[in-house]
Amino acid sequence: MSKSSEGQVDRRTFLSSSAASLLVPLQSTQAQERPVGVGNGQSVASNPALRVKALESLLIEKGMVDPATLDAIVESYESKIGPRNGAHVVARAWVDSEYKARLLTDATAAIAELGYGGSQGDHMMVLENTPTVHNLVVCTLCSCYPWPVLGLPPTWYKSPAYRARVVIDPRGVLREFGLDLPEDVEVRVWDSNAQTRYLVLPERPAGTEHLGEADLAALVSRDSMVGTAKVAAAAGGRS
Ligand code: FE
Repeated sequence: MSKSSEGQVDRRTFLSSSAASLLVPLQSTQAQERPVGVGNGQSVASNPALRVKALESLLIEKGMVDPATLDAIVESYESKIGPRNGAHVVARAWVDSEYKARLLTDATAAIAELGYGGSQGDHMMVLENTPTVHNLVVCTLCSCYPWPVLGLPPTWYKSPAYRARVVIDPRGVLREFGLDLPEDVEVRVWDSNAQTRYLVLPERPAGTEHLGEADLAALVSRDSMVGTAKVAAAAGGRS
């Protein structure tokens, strides 16, 4: 993406005109859409999703963007840039008990101490996992997610299956993620919304006493901060 102000204006202008040209054909197809879940049992994508897909398809078709570049950008925000912020917060809490206390008391302020905050993260709560309590985050309504600390939500987080099943059978869902919790561990499911976003503070794995903050942060996966994974002593697992 261009970093010059001139480049940003040009890009905005281009996107605006492209979106305007899409609006008419999309509105004309609106009346033909079936309601979600009616008919063949398949969900019809929402209009915003259709518009984004149409816009992306058009940009690719006209050679304005490279799909591989788009995928790389999305992948970076999903798995690298965003979750690394959250991992920084988690690692700081592991090495600094006073920071951890502030984080559990006023998460928004404590996260802002490390420079993270803003839209989609302006009212944060941090949920501490312990040997007896495991926290798991979902947004049953849509896909609310703490962008400043976790980036963009992964596809599975937005899927109707995850959103519906995690409140009915959280242990079953966790097993599908490869996390089989003992029966004596209480599973708490937290439903995100437009006001409050959650970040799970996973347990610090055993055998990491010698590691500093940066090395600890490298162990923390995105999924462990949503609650669908634990942190292993060696880096790995789903990210
Ligand atoms: Fe939501």
